[in-house]
Amino acid sequence: MRWGVLLLTMLALAACLPRAEQRRAPPRARAPERVERNSPDILQCHIDLARENVGFRALPDQRFQNGCSALGAVQLTNIGTPVAGLRAMTCPLARQFARWTREAVQPAAGQWLGSRIVRIETFGTYGCRTRNSQPGAPLSEHAFANAVDVSAFVLEDGRRVTVEEGWNGNDERVRRFLRAVHQAGCRRFNIGLSPDADRYHYNHMHFDMGRGPYCR
Ligand SMILES: [Zn+2]
Repeated sequence: MRWGVLLLTMLALAACLPRAEQRRAPPRARAPERVERNSPDILQCHIDLARENVGFRALPDQRFQNGCSALGAVQLTNIGTPVAGLRAMTCPLARQFARWTREAVQPAAGQWLGSRIVRIETFGTYGCRTRNSQPGAPLSEHAFANAVDVSAFVLEDGRRVTVEEGWNGNDERVRRFLRAVHQAGCRRFNIGLSPDADRYHYNHMHFDMGRGPYCR
């Protein structure tokens, strides 16, 4: 009887343990899923953009050489604030970018700089390259149109705030504005990198929807 109970217990443990392990497996262990244009997630994302009055065009799925791709991507055409340099972005990235601009960037500009943003400048979105363009490194989220690099903000009063000059510049309000929008980005994107992250980000903030969260 006792042996029977022990055997049953062992069988139950054997059946349960692997599943518990699977549930606990950290998401970092897997590559992020690349979702195609006709997937439910992307179609829902299109609905969200339309409902949030974001102008966009859905782009055809594209697969490039060296494992790079732009799947489930859109071209943003109007998010309420002009943005330079945006090309193909995965829809979830575009959705968060539009929200970040509306909910965080414009209010922070009003709060810290007393003006409206009339243009956000970026270094772009898609680029078939490794992380920080280092040989042998894994592909960057840019290689999947899943990242955006923000470099500067132009204000209605004519000022141009750049990440490069402003992050550690003399103007405290500019420093606070840049840190506020970076922190707000970390809450909306999976990864947020600033000049504090490493020497590669001295002149821009990088946001992506890859594996996270990571904020620096
Ligand atoms: Zn980047």
